Amino acid sequence: WNGKLEKVDDNRWLISRDQFPGMRTDAVIYSNDRLIGNVLNDNSPQQAANVACLPGIVGNSMAMPDIHWGYGFPIGGVAAVDAYQGSISPGGIGFDINCGVRLIKTDLTLEDIDGKVKDLMDELYRNIPSGLGSKGLTKVGQKDLSEILDIGSEWAVENGYGWEKDLEVTEEGGHMKDADQTGVGEKSRKRGLPELGSLGSGNHFLELDVVDDVFDERTAKAYGLKKGCITVTVHCGSRGCGHQIATDYLQKMEHYMKTEKVDLPDRQLACAPLSSRLGEEYYRAMCCGANYAWANRQMITHWTRESFEKVLGDSAESMGMDVVYDVAHNIAKMESHDVEGHREDVLVHRKGATRAFAPGRSEITMKYRDYGQPVLIPGDMSTGTYVLAGRQGAMKETFGSTCHGAGRQMSRKTAIENLNIETVRKKMADQGIYLRAGSDEGVLEEAPDAYKDVSEIIEVVCNAGLTAKVAKLTPIGVVKG
Ligand code: 5GP
Ligand code: MN
Ligand code: MN
Repeated sequence: WNGKLEKVDDNRWLISRDQFPGMRTDAVIYSNDRLIGNVLNDNSPQQAANVACLPGIVGNSMAMPDIHWGYGFPIGGVAAVDAYQGSISPGGIGFDINCGVRLIKTDLTLEDIDGKVKDLMDELYRNIPSGLGSKGLTKVGQKDLSEILDIGSEWAVENGYGWEKDLEVTEEGGHMKDADQTGVGEKSRKRGLPELGSLGSGNHFLELDVVDDVFDERTAKAYGLKKGCITVTVHCGSRGCGHQIATDYLQKMEHYMKTEKVDLPDRQLACAPLSSRLGEEYYRAMCCGANYAWANRQMITHWTRESFEKVLGDSAESMGMDVVYDVAHNIAKMESHDVEGHREDVLVHRKGATRAFAPGRSEITMKYRDYGQPVLIPGDMSTGTYVLAGRQGAMKETFGSTCHGAGRQMSRKTAIENLNIETVRKKMADQGIYLRAGSDEGVLEEAPDAYKDVSEIIEVVCNAGLTAKVAKLTPIGVVKG
């Protein structure tokens, strides 16, 4: 990157709109002095600047401190466009539509699972298919798939995967109402059928953690989290189904850009107006992909509960295995926000970014509304996961958004070439973390050193007023796809 990045304050850096032709607005990167060097190493600030050229963009193009290079948009990118005059861009959502994180709590302590961690992890590994090309254990037919694309998590709960009350603690109730599957191609359906109810590979994981730190007692209590309690974190998305939807529409939109002569600095920013047939069709198909991902995480929740029941011989209800929350971090959502003093309908692209609504927003379920929306930020397999709460700063500055993880500091290739499998496995073992992984290569790609320091990322988003710290979860077991 050889542009100019101006430091605004300790947590914000600016690429002003006069730097590159075509920028309709400024780009702001949330970062600090320690992280920014790493950001400058890859060309992702250029991607944040390119996003500022998106037709109909409202407010700044933004990137969260976990920013790194992505397809079109940087990962960690946030951009809102006018709901009527703006354009939707698949590169602003990502290939894994509604990749996201779900947190399940328990009332169990380390003592309660003493000597059973290995059994528990092995049982989870058996019951939840993971790894490259993993296939679900349940056979679903075309009719089921259609319902899943239409109603997401609701299908799962209606079919015995989990509890009615899981839905109210899932973003959007686990069901994007704007879904319309007429724009979902045959290939997406075909890939979606066998993979439903599986974790996938690589970055996707299931983690057994203990609540190690509580920073905000009152909010933690509202979320059902207590120091010393065992939790389960699930990270996965829409598998081949969502990937194919993204692929299909990127191709269609690239074609559209050519025929309509839309001029953008990067081909990968391909987009179409929300008011066009193509734009609307993609938006509605993307909603189907999101619904698939929510059904997927809901099924995994059910098998997680069953695994605990089998190993511990108690019911999930009496072990207090409630879903704390489920967030999407690759999605675009229709929302209303205050823009320069008036209310506006916008489509918010969050690509490797998480919704972080402040207290009071009606989208937050009643039991959390006074505390802010739970935000789940995984770091890496040895550090674990942070639970945050949405704050007013996010409503004022980032269309209610924050970071989604630690973000890579090494590409997968660099990690494989430079890291050592024995060292990584030893680090995990030394920390008492039981690791079950599909492949050595996968472990290397996902090694702790491949990622930035998540606590540093959290400092930035909290100091910037986007979110507040609630709790820190430390791993004792990890299933890696
Ligand atoms: P992404 O969706 O961008 O692939 O990943 C989200 C974030 O998950 C990454 O930025 C990384 O910080 C985090 N992450 C990757 N693997 C693990 C893991 O095994 N455990 C935890 N807690 N976080 C992880
Ligand atoms: Mn993800
Ligand atoms: Mn994913």
